[in-house]
Parts: sequence; C-alpha cells; structure tokens
Amino acid sequence: MMRTLNKRLQKDIENFKLNDLIQMLVYNIFPNEYKREYAIRRIQFEHWFDKKDKLIKDQICACSNNHDSTLIEWSKYGNQSPFKSYRDFLSEREDRNFRDFSNEISDLRMNTLGTYRRMRSPGLITINIDNMQIFFWSIICELSCKNRYTLTREKIEELARLCILKTLYHELFHHFTDVQSYITRKFRYDYFTEEALAVACSRHMVGFEAQNNTPFVSDFLNLAYSYTLPGYSDWVDYKSDEQFLLKLSEYIEITEPLSHMGQDITPIAEALLYSIFENPNTEFRLEFFS
Ligand SMILES: [Zn+2]
Repeated sequence: MMRTLNKRLQKDIENFKLNDLIQMLVYNIFPNEYKREYAIRRIQFEHWFDKKDKLIKDQICACSNNHDSTLIEWSKYGNQSPFKSYRDFLSEREDRNFRDFSNEISDLRMNTLGTYRRMRSPGLITINIDNMQIFFWSIICELSCKNRYTLTREKIEELARLCILKTLYHELFHHFTDVQSYITRKFRYDYFTEEALAVACSRHMVGFEAQNNTPFVSDFLNLAYSYTLPGYSDWVDYKSDEQFLLKLSEYIEITEPLSHMGQDITPIAEALLYSIFENPNTEFRLEFFS
C-alpha cells in the first residue's frame, strides 16, 4: 500500500500558487502578473453562479446535446483555445504532433493540458490554462447534466484543485523518469509505457489528495481519466498500487538482479518516486493561446 505523499510537496505547490490557478480555472480571475500579457480581455465567470453559490448550469451547459457539453463561447471570455471538450484531450486527434520525444519534450501536442521539458537544470512544467479551462468545464457540464448534481462554488473549487493536481503529478512523473535517466544508464525511455505510468501515477496521487471520496468526486475523476489515447489508456493496467509499482520498478530498471535475490523492489521504486516528488528540480510556467 502506497503511503500518502509527504506534505513537503504542498509547499512546492503553494509556490506554484495552486489557489491562483483555481481562481483562473473556476472564475477566469487572473493575478496582476498575467493581466497585461495574456488576460486583458478576460471576462470573469461570476454570473455563472447564483446568490446561493450554486452553478446556474442552464446558462453554460447544453444538457440536451450529446456532442458539445458546453454552450460557452470561449473566445468571448478571452480563451482562444481551438478545443471544445475534455474528450479532445483524452482521445486521438489528427493534429497530434509526434516529435523526438526521447530527446526533447514529452506531450508535444496542441491538445495538451501540460508539458514537461527535460532538464537543463531545472526541468520545466508548463500548464496550458486555456485548454485546462475547456477540459474542466466540459466535465463539469457533463456531470451536472447527466448526474444532475447541484454543484456549488465550494465543490467546483475542490474539483478544480484535483484537476490541476492531475496534470501537475502527470508532468512530475516525467520529471521523475528524467532524473532516473541520469541515475541509471540502463534506463530506456519508452513513450507508451511512460505515458501509461504517468497517468497511473497521477491517478494514484490525486486519489490521495481527494479529501472525501464522494460520488461527484469519483464521477469527475472517472471522466477526467477516461483516456482512449494509445499508451495513456493503458494506465488501467496499473490501477492498483502493486501493479503500478511493479511496472515502475521494471521500467526504471531496478528489478534485476535484486528481485532474483529475493529483495522486494516495489518499496525502492516508491521511495525513489517520492524522493523526487518531494524535492522536484523543476520550474512551473503557465501557457495561453493568443
Ligand atoms: Zn505525459
């Protein structure tokens, strides 16, 4: 059983201004440092909530339509992302852009929520806040239409926190294997295994972060992790701690010859992973469409 992560990471996430990100995602409110460059035409989402802090879903969600779950005209709010639905980020698209993943950047696609640039000391994690808004709100609409949840500001902010952490932990996993490639020369990057494990890792970590496993949280996470992309979708093979840590040990090449000697290797993989998560050598950056 994996232990929950040391609270040390919380500090790093605070540096990354998790609360600012929640404000951007849920209310389209941007701190001053971003306003001049990217957020001049941002109109806040305040009128999406009623006086009792409940989401007025009729205003933004197309509950009768199965295709586009939101009625939101994103460009009106200053979001220039070309995407429409969370599915655009979890499924195959023609504009998907493979480059030299082994050398440079993972997740090099337009329809991405975050990216990781390999270490030139430090590594760089970038979050695309425009794409994340669309990803997030289309899931919120699907939840409130199909499951008829009444979502309040408080609940939506909690889901936004998990949504940001989902991407953050995914990219931190890429940072972990980046570090690992310096620790052992035996390590061989494999795109499909890497993405499957990154998604699985993110899901485990977000599970720890979810304070209460109420139905609206688990329904949200089910949609947020409903990948059909090759590689990514294989994360379901590593849903249990044991499956995840065994595959991780194999991938980062610590299995041989220790396991032959009877050494339990999964605690080693877990400790290596957490040692990087607790002390990541990364910078964080936000990205917008312009
Ligand atoms: Zn990835």
